[in-house]
Amino acid sequence: MKQLVILSGKGGTGKTTVAAALAHLAAQTHSVVLADADVDAANLGLMLAPVTQEMHDFTGGKVAEIDPVVCSACGRCAEVCRFDAVRAGTVTTVDPLACEGCAACYYECPVEAITMTPQRAGQWFVADTRYGPLYHAHLFAGQENSGKLVTLVKQMARLRTLDDQAELLLVDGPPGIGCPVIAALAGADLVLIVTEPTISGAHDLVRILGVAAHFQARAAVLLNKTDLNPAQAETIAATCAERDIPLVGTLPYDPAVTESMVRGEPVTMGDGAVAAALREVWAVLQAHLQNG
Ligand code: SF4
Ligand code: SF4
Repeated sequence: MKQLVILSGKGGTGKTTVAAALAHLAAQTHSVVLADADVDAANLGLMLAPVTQEMHDFTGGKVAEIDPVVCSACGRCAEVCRFDAVRAGTVTTVDPLACEGCAACYYECPVEAITMTPQRAGQWFVADTRYGPLYHAHLFAGQENSGKLVTLVKQMARLRTLDDQAELLLVDGPPGIGCPVIAALAGADLVLIVTEPTISGAHDLVRILGVAAHFQARAAVLLNKTDLNPAQAETIAATCAERDIPLVGTLPYDPAVTESMVRGEPVTMGDGAVAAALREVWAVLQAHLQNG
């Protein structure tokens, strides 16, 4: 089993377009399990026509809850709460959005009126797609622990890959360089970084390459929309060469990408320039995966 994780140092580089295309191409010759590890904005499924098979709750951190029957309104919890989450009054309550779950009030309450209750912070799903099972998740607004949810999605997808003896686990990771990205790249045989020829694309590429190097993950780069800024494209190619990072392909700007998104299908279902380039990229990636 090989694990290919697709990342981008920033959003908007075409990472999910590439992930959907690679899912389509890989499934033609390999058994594939898919994971969308962008739990804040999962959208790989938009191009894969998923049919949900399972839905599960994700429990995040805990928040304080006060039992009004037991509470004696002594005010001690409001005194110790450093996050101003306790609302004193005729009935003492906790604002769940302000509560950080530190449990100081729980330990200080003289009558044990406070319980620390696990919060339902999101959901994760298993779906069938044309190219293999898809594991994805949705973190509720305002919730933390996206790294934990990414880890959960990846663990479940990895177990499915092992159970099915599938050949490839393909992970569409989150943008950026934070905790969810680190969770997404864990265990990768190859990290494919999709970037674009802009100043911010070049800048964020250096940052995400630094993260991959720190965690000793083998990286490769795919440059999208190359023809939009040839000078920046050269800068990115030079960055890859300096660091001995393979540049596995360049994709032209192609309106066919937007048209395929509107249709809700991978761009490689068609025959445009970018589809041809992605087929070449997939051939190169297979070689890198086999040599890993
Ligand atoms: S510390 Fe306990 S008893 Fe006192 S106000 Fe808070 S919940 Fe009520
Ligand atoms: S758990 Fe901490 S943050 Fe939440 S209400 Fe109690 S003291 Fe405040």
